[in-house]
Amino acid sequence: MRILIVEDEHKAAEYLHQGLTEAGFVVDLANNGDDGLHLAMEGAYDLVVLDVGLPRRDGWSVLASLRRAGRETPVLFLTARDAVSDRVKGLEAGADDYLVKPFAFSELLARVRSILRRGPARQPDVLTVGDLELDLPRHRAARAGQRLDLTPKEFALLTLLVRRRGEVLSRTLISELVWEMHFDSDTNVVDVAIRRLRAKVDDPYDHKLVRTVRGVGYVLDEN
Ligand code: CA
Repeated sequence: MRILIVEDEHKAAEYLHQGLTEAGFVVDLANNGDDGLHLAMEGAYDLVVLDVGLPRRDGWSVLASLRRAGRETPVLFLTARDAVSDRVKGLEAGADDYLVKPFAFSELLARVRSILRRGPARQPDVLTVGDLELDLPRHRAARAGQRLDLTPKEFALLTLLVRRRGEVLSRTLISELVWEMHFDSDTNVVDVAIRRLRAKVDDPYDHKLVRTVRGVGYVLDEN
């Protein structure tokens, strides 16, 4: 299990790092909001422990950016202020739990374990981008209220693009995540799949959602 700690106070960060490492977690540290967000976007973490008061970018902004990018990594946020509004704000922004400083390490560890027990993600059941709707449990997609007839792979591809909306995804990444394999760069499996997907998702509609970024890959957003 990998945990990212974003905390600018050196002593507190070291204390958490040591405690969680001893508890058997693999722990990375960031000491400002920018680095924290970058690591949280790039790394595959099971949990982020996020301080609210951070230099460069505060914890609210890190959390909001993560959720906007479709990252559902659980977040335990640490607040120094025992204000109800802060906690409500955090939970509404998509945090999974919070702790008010100062806290005992045993309390933090209990919260961490409890969040991890709940499972990897609080995934919303229905994802939307503009008039596109993905109903994950039913494996159904619709645009402007019209059902799209997608194959399972097309649905998986569209789900990936929607979850990571606004982010340019390389062909390599797409092939690894959708087909769980790495295609040779001269096979155009991904391009063909994208073309078929577009024929259903974009071609019949004026407003296009999937864009090609030349030499890089594909991105889905509202534009
Ligand atoms: Ca702080």
